[in-house]
Amino acid sequence: MRCDEALKLIPDRDDGLLQPGARAALDEHLRTCSRCDQAAAEARALRTVLFMPEDVGAPPADLPARIVAEVQRPPQRARAPLAWMFRYAAAFAAGVLVTLAVQGSPAAPGATVAEPSEQVVEPIPEMIKISAPRSPRRLR
Ligand SMILES: [Zn+2]
Repeated sequence: MRCDEALKLIPDRDDGLLQPGARAALDEHLRTCSRCDQAAAEARALRTVLFMPEDVGAPPADLPARIVAEVQRPPQRARAPLAWMFRYAAAFAAGVLVTLAVQGSPAAPGATVAEPSEQVVEPIPEMIKISAPRSPRRLR
């Protein structure tokens, strides 16, 4: 067994997930490879710290009753309308942004907008080959 294979199997061995053959091969490698054996020892030590249950003491005696009371408590009406207002406002703002993005922003009052007949159209290269107008022309 190579070292990279052994290092991958160490967590599975510690979880008891290895088949007997793989477990034996890993154990044999760890007996002959001090580097992997050291890594296995460090993994075991880390595992011990991580999974050590912290002594938090017994839960308060009234905890189950408090949980049941909290679950059964009717929703507070005072907060709900404000939350719905924010949701509607956000949805409305999103709709306005999408509309503006699709249609473009409306022209400011008093702004001069070019008439379609006055818009300058740049000829595309294919048109130049066919009709050959060199300068931009006006649509009439
Ligand atoms: Zn090794």
